Amino acid sequence: MKYDYDLFVIGAGSGGVRAARLAAKAGARVAVAEQVQVGGTCVLRGCVPKKLLLYGAEFSQSFRDAKGFGWTVDWARFDWPTLRERVQAEVNRLSGLYIANLEGAGAEIVDDRAILAGPHRVRLTREGREVTAERILIATGGHTSRPAETPGQELGVTSTDCFTLDELPSSIVIAGGGFIALEFANIFSGLGVETTVVYRGERILRGFDHDIRKHVQADMQRTGVHVVCGSTIGEIAPLAGARKLVTLSNSMRIETDHVLWAIGREPNTGGMGFEAAGVRLTARGAVAVDAYSRSSAPSVWAIGDVTDRINLTPVAIREAVAFVETEFHGRPTAFDHVDVASAVFSRPAVGAVGLTEEEARERCKIRVFRTVFRPMKNILADNEQRTLMKLVVNAESDRVMGVHLAGPEAPELIQLAAIAVKAGLTKAQWDATCAVHPTAAEELVLMGEPIPHDNEAPA
Ligand code: NDP
Repeated sequence: MKYDYDLFVIGAGSGGVRAARLAAKAGARVAVAEQVQVGGTCVLRGCVPKKLLLYGAEFSQSFRDAKGFGWTVDWARFDWPTLRERVQAEVNRLSGLYIANLEGAGAEIVDDRAILAGPHRVRLTREGREVTAERILIATGGHTSRPAETPGQELGVTSTDCFTLDELPSSIVIAGGGFIALEFANIFSGLGVETTVVYRGERILRGFDHDIRKHVQADMQRTGVHVVCGSTIGEIAPLAGARKLVTLSNSMRIETDHVLWAIGREPNTGGMGFEAAGVRLTARGAVAVDAYSRSSAPSVWAIGDVTDRINLTPVAIREAVAFVETEFHGRPTAFDHVDVASAVFSRPAVGAVGLTEEEARERCKIRVFRTVFRPMKNILADNEQRTLMKLVVNAESDRVMGVHLAGPEAPELIQLAAIAVKAGLTKAQWDATCAVHPTAAEELVLMGEPIPHDNEAPA
């Protein structure tokens, strides 16, 4: 045996754990190193705790809606420590399951920070020893970022900190207009925190369809979230009682309990010893990989957020599966990154797959179908929130190129719509599918007429 291991995985998040487990099951000698806690961003400080906090936050709207259905819920009180502790207990339970699954598959868990010492060498920095592996998989994920140049930036918190705040703040200013900013705006505003989103561009959710961006921003404002666009945080200054004074680039000043930096995440590539192994990075500091997730060093692969392709848990998992198929089952497999659906758990929530109207227009003539309606439940609830559904269709082939949803069940619906988009189904095939009544989803197969002027640029 030339090497200590057939595979050494660095990072026990969703991608690394899946690769380690599948490779071990395939009979490989596998170790996986984790410097913090098994589980990674998704399980410990991302998707899972975020969704659980959201469930907690959504009760406030449910209590308001309930009145229209005859319920009296005047007694509703919220206790942050209870939710915080229960969420932390759940993520620790899941971390334990990951450990059990890894051990059950025969993978060795190394509780250490691992870096590369050569193309086949890994240094365990705390233990101070080196091991060798035929293949090394980098699955170190990413980390939150802060604007180093902003005075007082250290007074702000990141999404990681938000899960374990000692107390629920009475107010928060959130910098950014992307996934994390809007999801935490939903959580905090749902929990009764006065919430301000400060976004540098004209409209939040850059990269999403323009109708979705407009709809979500307007509805957030309708529900009392302050959205300040075209501005950034210029300075944070301390005030008495741990409060902060935030000065924006437009000179606006806001007193707040907390400032949350949600201005993007960066790949965890610092101090990893990549030079020693000949691993090349991209201009954004991610590990550069080919379609099979192989780096510039033939014995080193990378998957997940550290490669900064599509930074979503299920993508990291599929990249892991493709890697194991290729390297341990002899079936070369490249994950197809086209038409990956995504969901933003904002309020209203967003689900999107395929091309936006703007992107599709660049490629071909299109027809656009759009409907905006008040879901049945909201009428009795006196809740003004409306759902938006939009299909972007290739005018020549009739193929549905993009689906864009904003509304309560959008993340659930988009998973199914993504099957149809990935399968390349036509609008006629969507319409041949009989509606399920009474649902919001039925609108997806009932959008009869395209909106007019559909080959002009969007307003
Ligand atoms: P995003 O890229 O989604 O959003 C970052 C936001 O910060 C953008 O609005 C961006 O503006 C703004 N921004 C960037 N730099 C600055 C700056 N220097 N000053 C002010 N504003 C700035 O990143 P997130 O951190 O929200 O999330 C990271 C990634 O994690 C997501 O892209 C997604 O892939 C993943 N994620 C997925 C979730 C899900 O699936 N539901 C949930 C959370 C995260 P601009 O648009 O102008 O660039």
